[in-house]
Amino acid sequence: MSDTSVDELLKSKHLCILPWVHAAVWTDGRVIPCCINQDYSFGHTHQMSLEQALDSDAANAFRAQMLAGSLPSSCYRCSQPEQEFGSLSYRQDMNRRFQHHAELIRQTDPDGRRRVRRSVYLDVRFSNLCNLACIMCDEINSSSFAQIERTAGRYDGPTVRRAFPSPQDFWSFFDQHIADFEEIYFCGGEPILLAEHEQLLERLLRAGKTRIHLRYNTNLSRLSAGSSGYNVLEMWRQFERVSVHASIDAFGELAQIIRRGTNWDQIEKNLQAVFSLSQAYPGVSLAITPTVQILNALHLTDLYRHLRSRGALADSMVSPNLLMFPSHFSIQNLSRNEKSRVIDSWDRLAQEANQAPEGAHLRARLDEMKTYMLLRDSRDEDLSKLRAWLDQTSSLGHAEVLRRAGL
Ligand code: SF4
Repeated sequence: MSDTSVDELLKSKHLCILPWVHAAVWTDGRVIPCCINQDYSFGHTHQMSLEQALDSDAANAFRAQMLAGSLPSSCYRCSQPEQEFGSLSYRQDMNRRFQHHAELIRQTDPDGRRRVRRSVYLDVRFSNLCNLACIMCDEINSSSFAQIERTAGRYDGPTVRRAFPSPQDFWSFFDQHIADFEEIYFCGGEPILLAEHEQLLERLLRAGKTRIHLRYNTNLSRLSAGSSGYNVLEMWRQFERVSVHASIDAFGELAQIIRRGTNWDQIEKNLQAVFSLSQAYPGVSLAITPTVQILNALHLTDLYRHLRSRGALADSMVSPNLLMFPSHFSIQNLSRNEKSRVIDSWDRLAQEANQAPEGAHLRARLDEMKTYMLLRDSRDEDLSKLRAWLDQTSSLGHAEVLRRAGL
């Protein structure tokens, strides 16, 4: 690998390594450039193989545009944070992480056709099967959400979606590329519930591929599942690097309002169990990754204090994820007075975290989120949509939900 390839990638504003090294499949079978670009599709697993989709005309055109010097417009979830509030984008993060494959970009024809094919990073959402129906989620990502919407007569599509018409369609791709995989990202539905997740870990273990990086976004509601009732902690301890990101947005009652179906006591027990594992096995790490939106912005500090008081945080990280879409849940829609209360509260949080190992990272995230929040005033159409949505989705009604969110 030449240093110039790496330099070019890391300095570039239009190159992203993912269309060269990534295989991402959504729950409905769309093969997409990455999990944050769902507006562009390389193909569909119900019409072609995953292998074919990654080298389809659409995939080639996507790469060709980058080679020609411009970031595709569908990548706005990267360009926006980079340009508007100076946050590290997913593109920049991935370019750093997979920079050792930078030479692949040069081994590409101007029309985007890859001369060397390498899939090192896998993100396959096998199914939308999920036991929670988070208030900001949708039917494609949660079967529980789809079920609620069907029952209410607001949705008539499938409840459970499957990315592949037949499991073998995926396993043939997986077996062919298993030697190349460096990282696998498991995300929703709820990955720990999925039989494919268990089978995938078993295949990796059988192949002796334990040095791979396994990364999770999980609601931590379950640590065992499937027909075998496998215990995921038993499997994780056999791998050298497992990063568990717990999607916990609030605690207690607010957790139950935001992540509908939450059993908070169970989640707290599971959190303790993963935390204990992370202490016993240095390869396993735990981070709390609250999705910060209008309903929990004022509760971040309370969540941090609560988790610390339960000893479930200690040296683990708190790494907030900023919700930008759907836009009616965005913290930009807080009033000016509410924004100033949020800033006071986050400043207190930054001070409390100051001495802790996670302090620097958390403070940087809080600063980025403040900048984003202050970029725009609230939008009337978003607020109307939010109120209508809360009236539809919570028996409490919008006024009471907002009151319990401290707004
Ligand atoms: S630039 Fe961003 S949105 Fe586009 S493929 Fe890369 S990571 Fe995804």
